Amino acid sequence: MSSLNRRQFLQSLGLASAATAAIAFPGIITAATTRPHVVVIGGGFAGATAAKYLRYWSSAVDVTLVEPNATYYSPILSNLVLNNQRNLGQISFNYNTLASKYGIKVVNDWVDAINAPNQTVNLRSGTTLAYDRLIIAPGIQFMDVPGLDSNKVPHAWKAGAQTTLLQQQLAAMPAGGTFVMTIPAAPYRCPPGPYERACVVADWLRTNKPGSKVVVLDANASIIVEPAIFGAAFTEYGVQYVPNAALQGVDSDAKIAHSSAGDFKADVLNVIPPQSAGSIVLQSGLANVGGRWAGVNPLSYESTAVPNIHIIGDSQGTGQPKAGHIANAEAKVCADAILRLLSGGQPYAAPVTNSACYSPISATTASWLTAVYAYDQASGTMKVVPESFGAAAAPSAKYYSRMFDWTTNLFNDTFA
Ligand SMILES: Cc1cc2nc3c(=O)[nH]c(=O)nc-3n(C[C@H](O)[C@H](O)[C@H](O)COP(=O)(O)OP(=O)(O)OC[C@H]3O[C@@H](n4cnc5c(N)ncnc54)[C@H](O)[C@@H]3O)c2cc1C
Repeated sequence: MSSLNRRQFLQSLGLASAATAAIAFPGIITAATTRPHVVVIGGGFAGATAAKYLRYWSSAVDVTLVEPNATYYSPILSNLVLNNQRNLGQISFNYNTLASKYGIKVVNDWVDAINAPNQTVNLRSGTTLAYDRLIIAPGIQFMDVPGLDSNKVPHAWKAGAQTTLLQQQLAAMPAGGTFVMTIPAAPYRCPPGPYERACVVADWLRTNKPGSKVVVLDANASIIVEPAIFGAAFTEYGVQYVPNAALQGVDSDAKIAHSSAGDFKADVLNVIPPQSAGSIVLQSGLANVGGRWAGVNPLSYESTAVPNIHIIGDSQGTGQPKAGHIANAEAKVCADAILRLLSGGQPYAAPVTNSACYSPISATTASWLTAVYAYDQASGTMKVVPESFGAAAAPSAKYYSRMFDWTTNLFNDTFA
């Protein structure tokens, strides 16, 4: 059934109004005989939330979530694995609740290709899935850095085995050694994340590897977020911060970073490469923002290049930060819009999203940063609400504790 016929069909069943009601009263829609199908690619903060809320708000839609991994490791809090405050098990999630509680069909597979005219996706296993609406939430992929071998020089910017590798390298580093890390030019995943990592590692080295040194090579001209807080911590910990240090190449065996500010030799080298939208976005012709990110209408996150395809999370190119909290918010806006569209309606005209990042500064203190974004009708973009912008005045133990309240809420809202 084509989407137009399906829409007419749903309208004939009165589901246009029912879907609206379901947003206020989750789960009240009864199943139609022929049902729209939404396929979601990627089970991170964006994709898992979208899949969950589509089904939480409507039982009239079938949802299939395609994700290759049975376990998702959260990048959020993963820096705390490096200083042994958390282990990977504490930041790992599966998709069992999404399947059992919300009736989402979870398929452990990789999407190799999208056939937009036919509205189908091809899975690596050989299966083809048809969709009425497609949500793509593949996060980021790393761009090439000459000489970089991530098995020797970890990025640890996608959590899991890479996090463990970096943690093990730090544990094996001799006292008095040098840890060098590189930060790509913005935009990249989690603006405060690299500065947070430098602080957490430097604090840990002070106690565990006395006499060690931390060097931060930043391709940006200055610390791009919370400069006062990170700058003060760098001074306290003796971090050597090098701005305008664009990475040009890596000797992965000798652990040397070649940068526009010179060559830096490390005992442990951590290169966070420049990033783009996930590969499926680029190969499907959806990366129409600088050839790197997906242009979308922020009312629905529908692609500005191809109809019926929505892109959320780190891959989207609205200018909102590439972060998990706001990915969760974008997912709800997108799910709501899709339910309205499938019912013959229009997306909500004034969506609001928000972003929050807690950054551990040591093993006992954290800072935070938050902002609200609202749809600006004149420009058709999401803009920061100036008075919403907030940041910690100083890192504290209270904020460190609140960080775990915040993550518990975010993790539950996404996976439970
Ligand atoms: C150290 C660190 C600290 C951070 N701290 C914060 C914080 O405090 N606050 C905050 O909001 N954010 C934070 N972030 C950022 C946050 O983790 C990311 O922004 C978030 O994970 C993005 O979610 P996503 O769903 O877009 O992508 P991801 O979480 O990367 O999920 C994408 C999923 O898509 C799957 N996938 C990709 N391609 C395909 C395909 N072709 N077929 C099928 N599946 C596919 C992948 O397997 C993956 O599971 C932090 C990140 C790091 C690294």
